[in-house]
Amino acid sequence: MAPEKATHQFKTEVQQLLNLIINSLYSNREIFLRELVSNASDAIDKLRFRAQTETSILGDDGEFRIRITTDKVNNTIEVSDNGIGMSHDEVMENIGTIAKSGTSEFLKAMEESKKDGTIAPELIGQFGVGFYSSFIVADKVVLYTKSTDSETGVKWESAGDGSYSIEEWDKPERGTRIVLWLKAVEEGDQDFTDEWAIKNIIKTHSDFVEYPVVMEVEKEEETDSEILDNEGNPVEKIKKTVKTDETLNSMKAIWLKNKSEVTDEEYEEFYKHIAHDWNPPLVNLHMKLEGVTEYSALLFLPSKAPFDLFNIERKHGVSLYSRRVFIMDDCKELLPEYMRFVKGVVDAPDLNLNVSRELLQQDALVRNIRKNLVRKIFAMLEKMEKDKFETFWEEFGAVIKEGVHTEFENKDKIAAIAKFKTTKSDEKWVSLDEYVENMTEGQEDIYYITGEDTKTLINSPHLEKLIEKDYEVLLMNDPVDEFFVGSVGQYKEKNFKSAEKGDLGISDVDDSKKEEFDSLFEFIQKQLDEKVKEVKPSTHLKNSVACLSGDAQDMSAHLEKMMKAAGQPMPTAKRILEVNMDHPVIEKIKGIYETNSDSTDLKDFVSVIYDIAVISEGGKLDSPAEFSRLVGNIMAEAVK
Ligand code: ADP
Repeated sequence: MAPEKATHQFKTEVQQLLNLIINSLYSNREIFLRELVSNASDAIDKLRFRAQTETSILGDDGEFRIRITTDKVNNTIEVSDNGIGMSHDEVMENIGTIAKSGTSEFLKAMEESKKDGTIAPELIGQFGVGFYSSFIVADKVVLYTKSTDSETGVKWESAGDGSYSIEEWDKPERGTRIVLWLKAVEEGDQDFTDEWAIKNIIKTHSDFVEYPVVMEVEKEEETDSEILDNEGNPVEKIKKTVKTDETLNSMKAIWLKNKSEVTDEEYEEFYKHIAHDWNPPLVNLHMKLEGVTEYSALLFLPSKAPFDLFNIERKHGVSLYSRRVFIMDDCKELLPEYMRFVKGVVDAPDLNLNVSRELLQQDALVRNIRKNLVRKIFAMLEKMEKDKFETFWEEFGAVIKEGVHTEFENKDKIAAIAKFKTTKSDEKWVSLDEYVENMTEGQEDIYYITGEDTKTLINSPHLEKLIEKDYEVLLMNDPVDEFFVGSVGQYKEKNFKSAEKGDLGISDVDDSKKEEFDSLFEFIQKQLDEKVKEVKPSTHLKNSVACLSGDAQDMSAHLEKMMKAAGQPMPTAKRILEVNMDHPVIEKIKGIYETNSDSTDLKDFVSVIYDIAVISEGGKLDSPAEFSRLVGNIMAEAVK
């Protein structure tokens, strides 16, 4: 039994999103039509795909089309399609909720970043608002739909004010029809019931949509009757107004055209159509390959990373076609995971139309195309102009770097384009080539340090000796960086060396001095036995009292913290406490220890030294209260 008419509340995030869209996209509101046409076109794609194997599915309605109907009297515009439609459950699932995980977090972040009550469209653009953009122009939206798999239709209706109703509806034909009850037109606003306005919008935003977007237009047509002059001679034919369907889009597959035939605006609109992005793309890559592996591809790099880039369930952005026939979207086999942000279309004329997702991976043609595309994308990135590349790198560098781990054969290519901020770069990006070129005389290795943010890293005590020697250090603050250096291993025959682990190989410890400190270090080690595995003279420090480091093969503190944050059960690895033998405080403590090793102050000093080492690398103290009590005591003594 089909459910009765029922009213439901929107999920909280839908209402939040609706408010955001309505408030921030008003000046851009004509794009609601692009969004509805794109959805209609996707729905037809889905049906066409099914029809390849289920031949009877189309019935006697095999002529795909998207229809726009306007009504000046009621002030409505309608978009209908004869695509796959939606069942009652699908409407409940797709409209009224937002399935994408991470949505609430994203919306919260947007709310917080909101200034002056408006939100930059490029922020919303990261989301792809689709159907909900109807509410920018309409104060009531009614959707009628019938799934190709259902007996009955469904009517959904909402005024965008928190709730919607849904009920069974008698809709004989398959597909979806969306009626927008438009808001009253204000002075200077575009009238969306106007034929010319619609023609223009479709031409601008949806020209390349593969199915005809039709609208009934009024045309003057000559009749057989004629107007006669005074002498009874025919002057002209009498015209009458007739209504006929006109196709508003050219439907040209833009990816099959030559580059010279496509304008920048057309590329941009096509990108917005396929990517559901409101921002223009950063660059496009349009190519045609002939020969053994034949294909055309039109790929884009977005200018902004989508908010869910690191969500594993996220769809990939490349659709596969064969001779203009849509085969599948979200085609993961065409590009590696670390290029999942690339959007576009690949058209392979020799591809078997019935190829299944499962078999795609083994398909030699697909494998060749993938290899080729990856090569072309690297070539494009290598020769991209500096500013553009850096915009790209800010957004997607962290993703590309995953590749050194997952696609070993391209790790050198990734290392060659990778850029980092360094101790010398003053927040600017430096490539590894530039780093190696600028190495100080006598410097053997590429030094790096990992952590959460470059500002803490640059002040890390581990870098003191390196900075004194004028060695540059890469400040790595992406979670993947730790794996990056591990997998790349070497660049231009230089080893990567952690500034916080193992021996830096730059300063020797004075052995006789070390002997003098042996006994104190043993004492410190005993006090901190649960936390540190060794106490030794520092090779890193110049000005600071102490720091924590690890053996060359140890996990860094940063990585350990990340693994724990990701829910990995991790024992806390003991670190090495490096003590600066040249620091006056250490000299003094040594003095106290030697005259009175039972002094109760010593214990407190050791505890404070350890905590300082933790704080200076941005770590968290076990007991901040205890630390401040001890420091308070020490200060009280000092100011006596
Ligand atoms: P998006 O298109 O980004 O997924 P929308 O909010 O525009 O987001 O649409 C949500 C879902 O509703 C779509 O993914 C699709 O499953 C369904 N949908 C929207 N419009 C149609 C339509 N005309 N025909 C069939 N399904 C549709």
